[in-house]
Amino acid sequence: MTQPLQPSAIQKIGAELAIAWNDGSESYLSLEFLRRHCPCAACGGEPDVLGQVALPAVTYNDRSFDLTSWQMVGGYAIQPSWGDGHSTGLFSYPYLRRLERMAKS
Ligand SMILES: [Zn+2]
Repeated sequence: MTQPLQPSAIQKIGAELAIAWNDGSESYLSLEFLRRHCPCAACGGEPDVLGQVALPAVTYNDRSFDLTSWQMVGGYAIQPSWGDGHSTGLFSYPYLRRLERMAKS
């Protein structure tokens, strides 16, 4: 039986979030990249009943990419709190891995 993917350690290093996973791999994600891919309804938009996503206008300020803290949520996601007060985005572990692949390509 394979273990579900879980971070074994999370650390903020400069302008990056470093995540050590329980499969032995590590992810380094730029904080700005993370924030720009915040999956919450206010930032990313949610599909309507027709599956169309209306992208909201998101404004950032100089504190928006400053990660002040984060929480683990329900064993499946990380909920970051940003310097501008935004904290409604839930980054699931598979989403974080996908973002890392996106950032590298
Ligand atoms: Zn958001």
